[in-house]
Amino acid sequence: MIRYSCQNINDDDISEVTDTLRSEFLTQGPKGLAFEVAVRDYCNARFALSFNSATSALHAACLSLDIGPGDVVWTSPNSFVASANCAKYCGAKVDFVDIDSTTFNISVEKLKQKLIDSETNGTLPKALVVVHFAGQSCDMARITELRQRYGFKIIEDASHALGGSYQNQIIGSCQSSDIAIFSFHPVKMITCGEGGMATTNDHKIAQKLELVRGHGITRNSDLFISKATPPWHYEMISLGFNYRMTDIQSSLGFSQLKRLESFVRKRRELSAVYDSELKDVEGIKTPQDDTKCYSSKHLYPILIEESFGCSKEKLFEGLKRKGITTSVHYPPIHLQPFYQREGFKNGDFPNSEEYYQKTLSIPLYVDLTETQQDLVIQTIKKIRNKRIAS
Ligand SMILES: *Cc1c(COP(=O)(O)O)cnc(C)c1O
Repeated sequence: MIRYSCQNINDDDISEVTDTLRSEFLTQGPKGLAFEVAVRDYCNARFALSFNSATSALHAACLSLDIGPGDVVWTSPNSFVASANCAKYCGAKVDFVDIDSTTFNISVEKLKQKLIDSETNGTLPKALVVVHFAGQSCDMARITELRQRYGFKIIEDASHALGGSYQNQIIGSCQSSDIAIFSFHPVKMITCGEGGMATTNDHKIAQKLELVRGHGITRNSDLFISKATPPWHYEMISLGFNYRMTDIQSSLGFSQLKRLESFVRKRRELSAVYDSELKDVEGIKTPQDDTKCYSSKHLYPILIEESFGCSKEKLFEGLKRKGITTSVHYPPIHLQPFYQREGFKNGDFPNSEEYYQKTLSIPLYVDLTETQQDLVIQTIKKIRNKRIAS
């Protein structure tokens, strides 16, 4: 079976995890700290806090920026639902900015126009969740100009983009954002089984993230409300959650991070093979690289145009018959039933809707062999030539 994505686990990973299982700490011990420090240093950020998923890290990020009822948060419709849900958890209103049809990231032109319009209506967003789709950064320089003009906060949903960079700034360094979030779900760049991480350069935000992660409880006497306190004292000073990552997960992440750069190199090599093999297949468009970015190549989304001669459904089924599973990233968030009930409808964000009609993510992962990749390429070409699936 060839899947669209798959984790890479080696013996070092397994021995790191079994070490933890034999140790004194299963959660919030030295491995958790080591993983946070490693990600912090890798990303060149001041703070890194682990979470049990990117979804909970996104929720905590919104809370740390004081997003709540009455606030508006914007994001891209071309993302996983969690990029929008995080604001709904806080009682905020969610709205979307359509994508650019070449990068599939948020369109800066549309963002600019929407900001101009909403300034007139008094509906400016408190925060923008940018999504670095497939591992390629959004155009942060231009987004920063708009942020300076309109004063919104920026959360980077960098779930796809660990190991990538923008204008030689490593993603997660938060040079042009308040907080960046990574996911360690097995399909992502590195895995902890489940897990997430938030990076930031702001001490206050880091403190809030930590409180949200741990029930709103602090053991830091500087934050205590009470004056004279006994030695065992702790205080719950805000309402938080249990969003902690275990040391079992952290040790897997710590071990995986050592191979991140080789993972990215391998994904980029495989992508380059797809680029050259598929770019001349009639009816297929391969993804374009933005020269300002070094993409982590989390996904390889191809576009199936009408001239391909058979529908995306038939290509999907034809590949599946050969044991090749593909996937679609993403059905536009605003067209999910929940968001349609919030008032969004077909036609609201036409670029992401059109993109969704055409896109298919074909297998891309570190352990994809040359033979397997060749089978994917040849099967696509065969379906194109013989329309065997029609
Ligand atoms: C995977 C993903 C998430 C959610 O990550 P979890 O760790 O599974 O919670 C959020 N946003 C994007 C863009 C993702 O790809």
